[in-house]
Amino acid sequence: MNHTIEMTPAEQAQAIEIAREVAKGFDKVGARHDRDNTFPYELAPIFRESGLVALNVPKRFGGWGADIWTTVRCVEELAKGDPACALGYNMHIGVVGFFRGMWSEAHQQRYFPGIARHGHIFDGVYSETRAGISGLADTLAVPVHGGYEITGRKGWGTLSLVADFHSFTATVTDPDGSVPSDLAVRAEREMMFVCPKDASGIRIEKTWDTMGMRATGTETVVFDKVFVPDSDLVSRTFRSSIYQTVEWQTLTFAAVYLGLARKAYEETRAALIDKSTGPVVGPSTGPTVGPVAVRYRDLPFVQVGFGQMQVWIETISAVLERACKELLAGIEGGPDRFRRMVLVETPKVVATENAIQVVDMCMRVLGGGSYRRGHVIERLYRDARSGPFHPLRTDQLFDLLGKADLGVLGPGSTSR
Ligand SMILES: Cc1cc2nc3c(=O)[nH]c(=O)nc-3n(C[C@H](O)[C@H](O)[C@H](O)COP(=O)(O)OP(=O)(O)OC[C@H]3O[C@@H](n4cnc5c(N)ncnc54)[C@H](O)[C@@H]3O)c2cc1C
Repeated sequence: MNHTIEMTPAEQAQAIEIAREVAKGFDKVGARHDRDNTFPYELAPIFRESGLVALNVPKRFGGWGADIWTTVRCVEELAKGDPACALGYNMHIGVVGFFRGMWSEAHQQRYFPGIARHGHIFDGVYSETRAGISGLADTLAVPVHGGYEITGRKGWGTLSLVADFHSFTATVTDPDGSVPSDLAVRAEREMMFVCPKDASGIRIEKTWDTMGMRATGTETVVFDKVFVPDSDLVSRTFRSSIYQTVEWQTLTFAAVYLGLARKAYEETRAALIDKSTGPVVGPSTGPTVGPVAVRYRDLPFVQVGFGQMQVWIETISAVLERACKELLAGIEGGPDRFRRMVLVETPKVVATENAIQVVDMCMRVLGGGSYRRGHVIERLYRDARSGPFHPLRTDQLFDLLGKADLGVLGPGSTSR
């Protein structure tokens, strides 16, 4: 997709500043919603009223028109407040990015002004229980007079509890309701639809009870013979289009986990910078009791840990910035068809894997107190664990890149 810059530098700086302010509200409620496994409904009006709801809606529809790099920096700020709340509300930002690349001008005209004027929130419920986003949709769209009748369950509905509209995928069946047996045809029949939250036959089941990212409200959206008119079939080419717009998810996911890593680092630094142990016996003092209190920052393993964390965080930041800037410069393809995939997926993998390393190191340098339930690092440690599950999963990307370079990707592959 074409990436353009609509905002002036002053507007970009203002958007980031607003995100920084909104993040303070995320920070206030994140721990409670993690503990209670509840969704932060109270952030929805803040998200709307701050204007961030229209962050990356193009200016011609009344939005702020943020480009991918400005968007990523705003999401990082939100995640520094609370990564789970940020991952939740980022789902709207991520799918708006999808829509910019996947939807016709007419569909954008139909829905984007409502986001800018009325603060309409969208979710993106595509994955299903059988095989996440990799599995072709088992949710079915049966053609009926004037539209489609949708039936199925979407088990990964982040933000669905406050969404005004659900965007979702379904496989369009033959008129008699049967699914094409040819898998290539079936993949072509996987399409994206939109319906309002109060469409007859929709319900949300509260199934989200996970190790981390608990405040994301990733509930199950159930479609029970929901009628969707022809006009709300918003993309006929979901599978083929997704790879041309996927950066709006992968790079904003990366921003969430970069924000998480920075928060963990800063919390750990603040906790240790003035901390002393009092007299101790241990490896750093030798076999006898030390005469003076030991400052944590004087401990070599703490010093090395902080240095190591900076390298992990800087690495995320660098690959993320490079990807955004290359997209904005239009350098995204070229003769190597995997170049784009490497560019837009690598930051997600680096961010999510490095964030896990960072929170692990935070625990090591902080010590056992950070292992207690309710400690901020204990929460961030659990939150970080969800990163590798976002598509493409770490091992999926490694597998794909390895196969591509070894010439074993499938029919027509050449071996070197
Ligand atoms: C916090 C969080 C929020 C999320 N929010 C959303 C959301 O709002 N909307 C949404 O659509 N999704 C969402 N997801 C879901 C996410 O996108 C994944 O679909 C989900 O994590 C399941 O991924 P999975 O591939 O591990 O699938 P699973 O169903 O858990 O496992 C699939 C299995 O199939 C295997 N497999 C996958 N691909 C292949 C292949 N090509 N060949 C062979 N085997 C394969 C995998 O190894 C795995 O064993 C969210 C996930 C998380 C963690």
